[in-house]
Amino acid sequence: MTAYHLEVEGRCPVCEQDATFISRDPWLRDHFLCQSCGSQPRERALMRILAQIAPNWRELAIHESSPCTAASHRLASQAPGYVASQYAEGYELGSMHPEFGQRVEDLERQTFEDARFDIVVTQDVFEHIFAPDRAIEEIARTLKPGGFHICTVPIMNKAEPSVRRARRRKDGAVEHLLPEVYHGNPVDPRGALVTVDWGYDIADYLDRHSGLSTTIWTLEDMSQGISAEYIEVLVSRKPKAGELEPDGLPQTDWRRRLKAWRRKTAARLSPRR
Ligand SMILES: [Zn+2]
Repeated sequence: MTAYHLEVEGRCPVCEQDATFISRDPWLRDHFLCQSCGSQPRERALMRILAQIAPNWRELAIHESSPCTAASHRLASQAPGYVASQYAEGYELGSMHPEFGQRVEDLERQTFEDARFDIVVTQDVFEHIFAPDRAIEEIARTLKPGGFHICTVPIMNKAEPSVRRARRRKDGAVEHLLPEVYHGNPVDPRGALVTVDWGYDIADYLDRHSGLSTTIWTLEDMSQGISAEYIEVLVSRKPKAGELEPDGLPQTDWRRRLKAWRRKTAARLSPRR
């Protein structure tokens, strides 16, 4: 039996230098690593898109929730305005964690002030959140107008809608709707429970709950080591006041748009007489 071996010379969008990408396993998502910085394909896809849409990211205020990748390290070391946060049970929200050296935050109820960040980054976080609607609403609140949330999240259901795997009941207990699936979690040996198998309807879901506008990018570029399963990058942008749409009309304010949507939904969901 011949062992699997993929080796490509190219340029890494994470460490921004010429690099060799090697995988000894056909599952490229976890194993196709940059030999210089150790990055995985999804991180290279994220940094490649970030460099394209915000080439000045080093000068911007960035919040990353639950950072743990080579790309996180790159952002932290290059951007003075980078803030990392991590949820830690039993610690006061908004305080600095004595061990991790990161700010303790719950993505679903953050203590950051409104319009604090140009960019919010999450990498493979949204498939583990119990209330992704509240998380994206909070992210939108903390973004400046014109800012954006850039994230990776595995789109498991390519041709079907998203499916909830687990939810949090009112009493705080976790209810499993499907067999439990865990992903590796650097801050918890038990791993991170998968709460949602997302489909492409995630874009619509995020927009409806935040007033942001989401684009899903799918990249394939071997010369940058960007090739693997589940490496879509989502960019959700917060509109700027007075900005023009492609048709020349001004954009509506995102808060107003969200309120209008909520009114419409409430009317639809309320019982008919
Ligand atoms: Zn690299």
